[in-house]
Amino acid sequence: MSLDRRTFIESSAALSAIATLGAPHTSAAEPKSTVNFALVGLGSLSTNQIAPALQKTERAKLVGIVTGTPAKEKIWQDKYGIEQKNIYNYDNFDKLVDNDDIDVVYIVLPNSMHKEFTIRGAAAGKHVLCEKPMANSSADCQAMIDACHQHKRKLAVGYRCQFEPHHLHCRELARSQAFGALKAIEAGFGFKIGDPNQWRLKANMAGGGALMDVGIYALQACRFLTGEEPVAITAQETKTDPQKFAQVDETITWTMTTPSGVNCYCSTSYAFSGINRFNAYAENGQFGLNPAYSYEGIQGSSSKGPIKLPQIDQFATEMDDFAKCILEDHPSRVSGEEGLRDLLAIEAIYQSIRSGQRVNVKRIA
Ligand code: NAD
Repeated sequence: MSLDRRTFIESSAALSAIATLGAPHTSAAEPKSTVNFALVGLGSLSTNQIAPALQKTERAKLVGIVTGTPAKEKIWQDKYGIEQKNIYNYDNFDKLVDNDDIDVVYIVLPNSMHKEFTIRGAAAGKHVLCEKPMANSSADCQAMIDACHQHKRKLAVGYRCQFEPHHLHCRELARSQAFGALKAIEAGFGFKIGDPNQWRLKANMAGGGALMDVGIYALQACRFLTGEEPVAITAQETKTDPQKFAQVDETITWTMTTPSGVNCYCSTSYAFSGINRFNAYAENGQFGLNPAYSYEGIQGSSSKGPIKLPQIDQFATEMDDFAKCILEDHPSRVSGEEGLRDLLAIEAIYQSIRSGQRVNVKRIA
């Protein structure tokens, strides 16, 4: 399909935003042009998204695995040519300190384990890419940031949408005030969760329910579009299945305001599928994505018509970007502080539900 002038301009804007990620590192002066990753936790995301994405990356290379399930070792060795010396379990993980082949540990474990393995990874001299949500509390996020700082290791959080062309384009529309000043954002992400026995429904493992798992994408979208931190939050929770959701939240709606006065209306749920979007409303027009947070097939439109941009592998781009940060020694845009700010907002949401009050969001000291 040919692009008209407007979609071409929109595409160009997003592609130039992608280009800021930079070209592959090729300088002859630099001996290292790739960064070696070990995946920690070989569950659904590692198996179905991250490992396949690592076959497309330019700077990030899959060389190691950390698993508590010995049966997975041979499967991964056969599939990805992982050398025996680069296979670890959760007990001997700290021995990574003696393995110079591995530069990065990518933590893809249940949320409650992110803190421990980030801190142990940094202590073993590894840079850390950690899946979202960064941890179960802001205090844990801070401890992870401190550990990486102490060991002079880089830390990034798996906010893949921040590398996605449609999201980058919408951020550009918001920040450039293409439709005038932004006034409101409506954002929501939810799905109907299955197996009642999974870790996502256990408070000690997941730290929360739908909000921690997928509501965080709606929160991220609001923060990403505006570039602002929410000032105050009002939130409510409803439960239609108190037994299944005895330990964690089922459905939450919340509103938050930003310093420039953008009103954000957000929702998340584990009770129903189909909500996967954001819409931003400016003085003279609107724009948004639906679906917004899927691994592929992101679609967008604005008051001027469809937003047509390339679909990318978000995980591959995210990992290549982290590899570039390491090779060129600069911080990741999806930093530990970025993860911490989300947890501060999430804690305000939970506090508002408990208290029934409007809650001010804490700032990073
Ligand atoms: P999963 O349940 O499929 O995999 C979890 C892995 O952790 C499994 O290999 C399991 O064996 C291992 N594990 C170790 N100790 C465990 C314990 N005590 N209990 C349960 N599992 C244990 O989960 P997943 O969907 O792969 O999610 C992993 C992380 O990735 C989570 O933090 C999740 O929020 C995040 N995630 C991110 C995205 C994204 O789009 N960025 C998508 C899905 C999941």
